[in-house]
Amino acid sequence: MSTFKAPKGTYDLIPPDSAKYLAVRDAIAAPLRNSGYGYIETPGFESVELFARGVGESTDIVTKEMYAFETKGGDRLALRPEGTASVLRAALEANLHKAGNLPVKLWYSGSYYRYERPQKGRYRHFSQVGAEAIGAEDPALDAELIILADQAYRSLGLRDFRILLNSLGDQECRPVYRAALQDFLRGLDLDEETLRRADINPLRVLDDKRDDVQKQLVGAPLLRDYLCDACKAYHEEVRELITAAGVSFEDDAKLVRGLDYYTRTTFEFVHDGLGSQSAVGGGGRYDGLSEMIGGPALPSVGWALGVDRTVLALEAEGVTLELPASTSVFAVPLGDEARRVLFGVVSELRRNGVAADFSYGAKGLKGAMKNANRSGARYTVVAGERDLAEGVVQLKDMESGEQVAVGVNEIVAELESRLS
Ligand code: AMP
Repeated sequence: MSTFKAPKGTYDLIPPDSAKYLAVRDAIAAPLRNSGYGYIETPGFESVELFARGVGESTDIVTKEMYAFETKGGDRLALRPEGTASVLRAALEANLHKAGNLPVKLWYSGSYYRYERPQKGRYRHFSQVGAEAIGAEDPALDAELIILADQAYRSLGLRDFRILLNSLGDQECRPVYRAALQDFLRGLDLDEETLRRADINPLRVLDDKRDDVQKQLVGAPLLRDYLCDACKAYHEEVRELITAAGVSFEDDAKLVRGLDYYTRTTFEFVHDGLGSQSAVGGGGRYDGLSEMIGGPALPSVGWALGVDRTVLALEAEGVTLELPASTSVFAVPLGDEARRVLFGVVSELRRNGVAADFSYGAKGLKGAMKNANRSGARYTVVAGERDLAEGVVQLKDMESGEQVAVGVNEIVAELESRLS
């Protein structure tokens, strides 16, 4: 071990587990790529101001969790704590919204950073795959995203997740509700900090995890009862489209999320095998965000699914992914001549798309066969001087243990036909 360890709240992805992360990212991306979403990559850091304005000045993410710093050039930057603000910033900067075919549909995959108190499922560096549909107000778009996330989780074999759905209203109805909620909260027995939160962002109080707070919230007014007709109709349409697609969900009138930019549709995917960090993904509509960061009005909707927690959810359900074997053929040369011949065989197999590996370093037969076993290869090719003198190599089926001699010139074709 070296003197250094991964920083607090972070961990390394190493084989063989790292293969699961790649598979999860692929599985989440697949339905998006199949539905008109184009891949976007943005920098790992942005102007602090983008997140302060976008995510919200009073959110935990901005006030407590951001890795903000000043560069040598005097710029105030922050490691990105989430993806939506950056993606929207990039789309606006590239004028994607002016190309004339809205919505602009984008997907991304990357690392995000929050200075949180680490625990299982909550890290300071984590990974998300996300999707944003920018510039259209259409309940079918909200439904599409929820359906695609559901499809992604199901394709991985996950079953014990639930979809929580709510509407946060819009500029017309939310202020009325906000005032009613504030009135209610002022009458409760709350600590200083929570009262302050009730002043700045009362909806977030609904999300308080403490039992004594939740008990007092039982009779709180619900946004559901304050939605304007347009928001009500919009939400009803989203619900109907999801239901028609056979995706089940639960109405959760208290669902608010930790980011301020959401309007109307809000949803969260929770997994019941994860304990306190049960949200595996979430998202919603953010019709006002573009204007908040200086752009034109661009009603949009998106989600981000956490890769780390999705892997934990798979483990909690005992799902084993069917990962392609990393090595199909392992070559074990005995002697210099065999090294040259088998190295050539391995190179040719690889060129033809067969996953092959080689016993490197001067090892005896026993050590080399151990490597072959560990590689998980279905076949091992062994050759010594005597084999080569006869123009053959030994092909061993690692499942049955059966071994046959195959001509040096036939071995590549023989392996390809056995593996196909
Ligand atoms: P959010 O951007 O907060 O809506 O988070 C979306 C998803 O990202 C969550 O449902 C989690 O799966 C994941 N996530 C957010 N924060 C963390 C974290 N600190 N550690 C691990 N995963 C996270």
